[in-house]
Amino acid sequence: MRPTVIRQSHGAALSPAAGGATPFAWEQVGRELGITPGGTVNIAQLTVDRHAASARGDQPAFRSVNADGGRRSLTYRELARLTDRFGNALKSLGVGKGDCVFVLCGRRCELYVAVLGALKVGAVVSPLFPAFGPEPIRNRMTQANGKVLVTTASAYRRKVAPIRAELPALQHVVLVDDLGAGAMPETHDWEALLQAAAEAPALVATSADDPALLHFTSGTTGMPKGALHVHGAILTHYATARLALDLRPDDVFWCTADPGWVTGMSYGIVAPLAVGVTSIVDEAEFDAVRWLSILESEGVNVWYTAPTAIRMLMKAGPPLFAGRRFPALRFVASVGEPLNAQAVWWGVDTLGLPIHDTWWQTETGGIMVANAVTDDIKPGSMGRPLPGIVARVVRQRAGETREVIETPDTVGELALEAGWPSMFRAYLGQPERYGKCFAGKLYLSGDLVRRDADGYYWFVGRRDDVIKSAGHLIGPFEVESVLMEHPAVAEAGVIGKPDALAGEAIKAFLTLRRDVAPSEALRMELLAHARRRLGAAVAPKEIAFAECLPHTRSGKIMRRLLKARELGLPEGDSSTLE
Ligand code: ATP
Ligand code: MG
Repeated sequence: MRPTVIRQSHGAALSPAAGGATPFAWEQVGRELGITPGGTVNIAQLTVDRHAASARGDQPAFRSVNADGGRRSLTYRELARLTDRFGNALKSLGVGKGDCVFVLCGRRCELYVAVLGALKVGAVVSPLFPAFGPEPIRNRMTQANGKVLVTTASAYRRKVAPIRAELPALQHVVLVDDLGAGAMPETHDWEALLQAAAEAPALVATSADDPALLHFTSGTTGMPKGALHVHGAILTHYATARLALDLRPDDVFWCTADPGWVTGMSYGIVAPLAVGVTSIVDEAEFDAVRWLSILESEGVNVWYTAPTAIRMLMKAGPPLFAGRRFPALRFVASVGEPLNAQAVWWGVDTLGLPIHDTWWQTETGGIMVANAVTDDIKPGSMGRPLPGIVARVVRQRAGETREVIETPDTVGELALEAGWPSMFRAYLGQPERYGKCFAGKLYLSGDLVRRDADGYYWFVGRRDDVIKSAGHLIGPFEVESVLMEHPAVAEAGVIGKPDALAGEAIKAFLTLRRDVAPSEALRMELLAHARRRLGAAVAPKEIAFAECLPHTRSGKIMRRLLKARELGLPEGDSSTLE
């Protein structure tokens, strides 16, 4: 039997801003970043120019690894020079503060230069996931009146040229491939544009409240929403990089998320650069062997990944790890979906380190609740609110009011006191929906949790996924976790389906580990296992084996699709379906 707490003996020398002896204050975080009262707050200046002008200037900001093992580094100084050039190029195209610049390309140097160069001149950057087809591109670019698109020639030819007439706000398309100027009509060539641009500082004065980033949510529960973030969000990114990820300036850091999603932007670009580390960029897609090789050979110190990747590594089994050592690895964290206790222990067994779960959302812009560096870990819990964050568990009262639940271990909605720096400032074009996210000074997350007597939060499920069966409120995660304890199970998705007697009956969809074949005997064994561990009221009544479960492109299980398919209902928005 594993213990319920993993004691941590982290002696990280933390500054006051990172939760040291003095009380936490956002003003102190700002001072550490060199922000002066009333001065410019610009993400690109604070992440790139600040380091370029320091002794850190020649340290690689990014080290990218391609599918063939080739490498390319970009130092802070080079990044400053290139982002100035691209920023000036944008200015020459008439792009200024508040204009929306979309990026649609793989993880290559130009992507990082484009994002940071656009931020430098006060444009609002919206990243698109590279695998998106024309419809999600059209939908997002229309909503935001995208003025510029930075992309590749092949993506442009296949996905954008056919719909360009439907994008009247789109004035400029910049192609990052090495095509030579004028190779495609009505587009600009990246290289030529940069060559022609001045290398003078391109920085435009922005304030903490100026819009910087537009992120669309993952679409797990419905149509993706566009969440708008401001330059001041960098305070959260910097503080949480220290507190929740233990990032230190000389670290080699790998965030596996694509910058098309908020994790890949906040923790693949802004947070690591704010601290001044070297980030690894993997240009290729997930491959278990390659990923372990990167961890090993690039000397990764801190690794931030997702439960879906961890599940895939777990599924691949122990032989994958034979003979591998990760002496450089110091800290591993995860985000995106609940991380069950097995996965935390799997980290201990295979990487020599527990995995630290962190909770946040596109809307929160940065990590809010985490198994922080200095805290003991309770495997299966998402941890405690970070310094500077006030969290509550609430239940709805008459009308729209909320009551704060103080009793430990009571399920309610996770709410945060509004006002942290990376809080989203709007849902694009949906002011009413934005308003509904708040009750007084509380932001309502839509996730159900319980808080134990030690102040640790335990994820129960999304408000939309919760199942009401025979008078019980059941979170799918609890049922899925128990099913995944069984050695045959690789992944589990649990839904409620209408039932005349119980209101809703629980059905589980399971994929099995390699080398395990589905059978009636296994189904019976799993039903019995679930009943034993959960009790008859909470255990699934039905189990279906599947080859794979539907996921968002960022790797989350889409329970709404499992449900729609089971009930023969329309599937709704599938733009983020993997
Ligand atoms: P949409 O809002 O479009 O339905 P989404 O909620 O999946 O999509 P994101 O903002 O990418 O979009 O994801 C945030 C959600 O992911 C959280 O609200 C929560 O439900 C889930 N999540 C993130 N981290 C964790 C975690 N550590 N434990 C449990 N759930 C998590
Ligand atoms: Mg959401």
